[in-house]
This record gives sequence, structure tokens and C-alpha cells, in this order.
Amino acid sequence: HAKRLRERTSNSRSFHERASSVTPLGVESNVRSFDPYPFYVEETDGSYVTDMDGNDYLDFLLALGPIILGHGHPEVREAVKRQVDTSDLTATPQPVAIEFMEAVTEMTPSIERVRMANSGTEATMHAMRVARSYTGKEKVAKPEGGYAGAHDYALQSVYASEEALGPAEEPNTVPYGTGIPDAVSETMVAIPFNDKEATERILRKHADDIAAVIIEPVMFSCGCLKPRDGYHEFLRDLTEELGIVLIWDEVMTGFRLGPGSAQGRFGITPDMTTFAKAAGGGYQVAGFGGRADIMEEIVPPRKEEASKWNSSAFHGGTYNGHPVAAAAGLKTLEILRDRDVYEHIDRLGDRLFTGLQEVADDVGLPVNVQHIGSMGQVYMTDHEIASYRDTWHANGDRFADWWLEAAADGVLFGNPMQGERFFTTYTHTDEQIDHALEVAEDAFRAVDHE
Ligand code: PMP
Repeated sequence: HAKRLRERTSNSRSFHERASSVTPLGVESNVRSFDPYPFYVEETDGSYVTDMDGNDYLDFLLALGPIILGHGHPEVREAVKRQVDTSDLTATPQPVAIEFMEAVTEMTPSIERVRMANSGTEATMHAMRVARSYTGKEKVAKPEGGYAGAHDYALQSVYASEEALGPAEEPNTVPYGTGIPDAVSETMVAIPFNDKEATERILRKHADDIAAVIIEPVMFSCGCLKPRDGYHEFLRDLTEELGIVLIWDEVMTGFRLGPGSAQGRFGITPDMTTFAKAAGGGYQVAGFGGRADIMEEIVPPRKEEASKWNSSAFHGGTYNGHPVAAAAGLKTLEILRDRDVYEHIDRLGDRLFTGLQEVADDVGLPVNVQHIGSMGQVYMTDHEIASYRDTWHANGDRFADWWLEAAADGVLFGNPMQGERFFTTYTHTDEQIDHALEVAEDAFRAVDHE
């Protein structure tokens, strides 16, 4: 199934050889690699990306989430250019970053105080430390199958096998990949998303040691797992009772599921929140925030103490609040707040994802399409999808084949990994959705049905 894409991408193929001599897998980040080789993008514009062979792709991958206004939104681009002409990095604070944080605070229900970072990884790492500092406890619980960033604490029980994870009612904590100390894994506790009974048993058992639960409101890190039966309401109540900080990892959902993120959409307020991706409209903006009394762990009100710098949870970073990224983020948030972006991307998201289910049904392929608003995933199975373990029923090879067929026809339904997800963006049109559905139908027909 890679043949047609390969035929169109000979420049990328030779460039991949050159790239592989300078960087592992020939890519800047592991998830950009796929068989037989990735295509290299030279230009982006609106709903499209163009590779170095001159092929245009209708883009639903959208940089794994950040591109919410379309590529190169003219006003964001203008804000970036203006900022480049005004100031570059300083190690003194700049108003543009403060204004960005004001907008985040105004829009996000749980955020009273906020700090900036450059990636979701940094945001979750710092949020976890602050929660540990606040509670004086060491462990952090997270759902199995969830990706919360690339630091050692987050790379636990993500993409693990049944054998490694053990019993569903009490999963093992399993490091993802090598190079992660056992001592770090031992500070993490795995919980099963959507299983209230098991979650409660595990959290009560470790309550005296658990500082925080870090969880995605919708688990897009394994496709699209939606919360069921009041799972988040239950978790909100339970964490409050047990003195555990509830951190919603809104790196994927933040400013994507609505101006108030998933927490605004669901009407549930966590104690802390991480965000990145859509907040920067394509520039490296991230951050974490929450209740003022928790965020004060960073700067305790004990200024008179000589040990001030030792008595607070450290947060720092040379590039935090970079003015150019902050300017892009500020303009993006203004547009998200003031225009009909969510109405548009959610309507097209409903059309795209329900349409994908319909065309797969017409073709007679067992497919389960899950989505919420502008975000969703196609699972190659007719099994129900409520837990991470349910996703193991989906046929990842068939998904990759389907993706390759569609990519060869110039449509990117995310990337070829079954555990990812894809999106609609503000520049997508009804005609583009119609076209995508035609391509998807042909691709569903083209894959092996056995
Ligand atoms: N948390 C979640 C829920 C994510 O989806 C991601 C990235 N896909 C991260 C954290 C890490 O963000 P980043 O890639 O910006 O480090």
C-alpha cells in the first residue's frame, strides 16, 4: 500500500537518506517517522502542506493539534512579524507574555495563576512537581495508555502490552522504552480510564502517597477515548476527598474543545491544568496553571525566610514566554475568543467523522469512528472503544494501509499510527470535507478486508 505514495515522493526518498546520516530515523522527533520513509514538507498554507516533490496534501494531521486556525493564518503571521521587528529574547520579562497569560487565565476556568513553558512535556513535568510540593506527597497517578509528555515521569504505562501491564483492575506501571530509572517508575501509579471501581480502589490504597492524578479529559493519546458514566465527575469528587491534586492534561484539548478548553465544555474544574498546542497556533507556546494557593508553591509567601529559594518548587526556562511565540499565542487566543472558530471546526468535525463512519459502513469494513468536536480517530474494529485495552482490538496495520492509500491521493488523516488522532481546522471547507470523504471511501475499499 506504500507503493503509490513512494512513486510520488522520490525527492523525499533521497532526502531521507541524507537526513538519516545526521539524525536518527531521519526525523526530528520519533513520531514523525514512518515506513518506508516520511515525506519532507517544504511549504504550508491554509488547509494544505506541500512536500519537496511538489505534492499537496489536504491536512488533517495539523502538526498533531496546534494548527487550529489553518496554516499561516494571516493575522498570526502578522503578529509574529511585528514581534520579530520589535524584540527578541531577553532574560527580563516582556509584556507580551504577561498579556498572553492574562488571556489564558481569563479563558480557562481552573487557572487563577499560570506559568509558561515551551512544550507539553515541560508543562506536565512542572505541574507534577508543583503538585508534589503542595501536597508533600511523591507519587502521581495517570491512566494506562496515556501520553503526558516525553519526560521520565510521564513515559509510564503508555503503549504497553497486555503482558507488561498485567491485570486491568490494577495495572502495572511500565516504563516506555529504555533509559528510564526504575526509581522513577516506582513513583508512578497506573489507573484504568473509565473504570470507576478500579480507579477508586487504587487511589484509596495509595492515597497517603499520591500527590496528583494527571489525566486527559478525553484520551486522545490513544486515539479518542471519551469519558463515560460520569468518570470525571467521580474523579473530581474522589481526588478532593483524598487530598489529591487533580491535573487535567489539556495539552491536546486545550483551546481546541472550546474557548474554555475541555473543562469549559464539560463543566468540571480541575485543580491544575496543562496546555500547549492550540494555544500557540503553531508556535511553541505551553504552560501550566491552576488554583492560586497551589501555584504559590513556586513563589511561597515566606519571603523573609533565608532559605526562600530552597523552600519553593522551582520553575524556570531560558525560553519560557518567548516574545515571538507569545505574540502568536496572544493573537491566536484573541481570534479563538472573538470569532466563530469552534462553531466552524466542530461542525466540520461532525461532518468528517460521522461521514467516515458512513463510508466505511457502505464499504462493509468493520470500523469504529470516535470523535468529539474537531478531534477524532478511526479505529479499524467494530469492537466498542471505552478503555485503552479496547483499542488493542483495532487493526493497526490496516489503519496504516488506509492512511497510506489516502496520503497517496493527497489527504492526510493524521499520521499512520492507530493510536493518534486527527483534526479539523478553521480553513477547512465543506468542499474539502466532501473530497476527503471520497478519498477515504476509496482507501477503505483498497485495504485488505481479510
Ligand atoms: N500531554 C498530552 C496529552 C499530549 O498529547 C502531548 C503531546 N502529544 C504532551 C502532553 C506532550 O506535549 P509536547 O509534545 O508538546 O511535549
